[in-house]
Amino acid sequence: MQAAATVLSDVFGFDAFRPGQEDIVEAVTRGDNVLAIMPTGGGKSLCFQLPALIRSGVTVVISPLIALMRDQVRALREAGVEAGALTSGNTEEETAQVWDALDAGRLKLLYIAPERLASGAALGMLRQIGVGLIAVDEAHCVSQWGHDFRPDYLRIGELQRALDVPIAAFTATADAETRNEIVERLFGGVSPQTFLHGFDRPNLHLTFATKDTPRKQILQFAGARKGQSGIVYCGTRAKTETLAKALREEGHLSLHYHGGMDPQERRDTEVRFQREDGLIVVATVAFGMGVDKPDIRWVAHADLPKSIEAYYQEIGRAGRDGAPAETLTLFGPDDIRLRRSQIDEGLAPPERRAADHARLNALLGLAEALECRRVNLLQYFGETEVTCGKCDLCDTPPEVFDGTVAVRKALSAILRTGEWFGTGHLIDILLGNDTDKIRERGHDTLPTYGVGTEYDKRQWQAVFRQMMGHDLVRPNPERHGALTMTDRARPVLRDEETVQLRRDTIRATSRRPAAKT
Ligand code: ADP
Ligand code: ZN
Repeated sequence: MQAAATVLSDVFGFDAFRPGQEDIVEAVTRGDNVLAIMPTGGGKSLCFQLPALIRSGVTVVISPLIALMRDQVRALREAGVEAGALTSGNTEEETAQVWDALDAGRLKLLYIAPERLASGAALGMLRQIGVGLIAVDEAHCVSQWGHDFRPDYLRIGELQRALDVPIAAFTATADAETRNEIVERLFGGVSPQTFLHGFDRPNLHLTFATKDTPRKQILQFAGARKGQSGIVYCGTRAKTETLAKALREEGHLSLHYHGGMDPQERRDTEVRFQREDGLIVVATVAFGMGVDKPDIRWVAHADLPKSIEAYYQEIGRAGRDGAPAETLTLFGPDDIRLRRSQIDEGLAPPERRAADHARLNALLGLAEALECRRVNLLQYFGETEVTCGKCDLCDTPPEVFDGTVAVRKALSAILRTGEWFGTGHLIDILLGNDTDKIRERGHDTLPTYGVGTEYDKRQWQAVFRQMMGHDLVRPNPERHGALTMTDRARPVLRDEETVQLRRDTIRATSRRPAAKT
């Protein structure tokens, strides 16, 4: 058996393993069942390709993307490895070559598309060729409630039982729910050796800020980094255009980018960003897939991303070269409302919607975190040994206070008005304001009327935002976004739990007595 390090340099041309790779390669080579969770670009493919060369028999690789399979096969062939793919994209000649190599017992890696597993013929064929290992790329595709569900992935368990060989599964999606589904569906519920590594990007500095004067906040952030390449992500196409223009007016080199532009214009922008120094691209999430620029020095979110995974992926485009890079994510109650309604109004089945809410909650938890962002973020991915010192909260720990009383007042205003109103009206009630709406509804007779004069309007907005962030209340899409209490708020209401709130955003304005107009 050839030593892994020799194969690494002789075949793949790498001097050293990346963090985590060596342990995975060892376990896969040994024939353990393995689940490896690594971020995109972390070097997963090597973790099954290398063992495939050392182990006897054919390694069957199941991968959802034909283009990706073909790339890998091409790269392996160029490195002198006998690899082939059986996909619907094959020419007859390619397929014949694969069969010849299989018959001659030369083939080491056989890539197949999951659809193939649906035919009994494939199973018979795989039984005969001496499979020694099944490698599953993008293993989260077995997750029924994930975004990439591939029904044919459910046949992999069956395949494994028929062949009785180890499985090595790989994914970049690491939330606990998905992981459990992978263990259940691919490994028959028996936990494989699990590796999780490399999610930390220590050179990225993480900052969140509430939207105060959003445009100014972005301009300031970019202004402090003039001449550096950066990306600003926006929630709408229109905003990419106005913000790019605003940046140009401040003397920046800046272009917008979104899915509504014609393909040539988009490609030109990508190419310019790639080649030029100091260009800022203001974009929707359509920008980034094809971008592989190592020296992006900063990423800013003018609007809150849609989930914690999206956040991680988008900030992850900065600082690929390992040099320090900055990130800034702005968020406000409108973002939270928008993201919730996008999920609620989407066509996904209820279970998937619940999972999407959970992913959004994880991001909101991060936005409203009271301690280190990095620890909070990596915890989501299951990584626990984290040192930071590079986030806004480590730089300046926020002052927190027991906000239980304020939260209970707010909840009481919501409940006493039948969960039919939005933040603005609820705050009017808490402040004891005299408005037409209050008089019409008789809300000036509620016991909650005027009980919240210790804060002003903006401070109450911060309380409500943090309540949304902690998922104590949610806007109800069927009631024009009226706030509804969630089950999480019940213990607070019953005085069984306290809520810590951040002081800074609540003290942001001077305390004015409630205006009673
Ligand atoms: P992913 O985890 O997204 O599947 P890949 O397997 O495509 O990542 O690897 C990402 C890149 O890292 C590839 O260009 C690959 O050649 C490179 N790479 C993988 N392992 C190493 C290594 N040990 N040393 C240097 N480069 C590596
Ligand atoms: Zn930190």
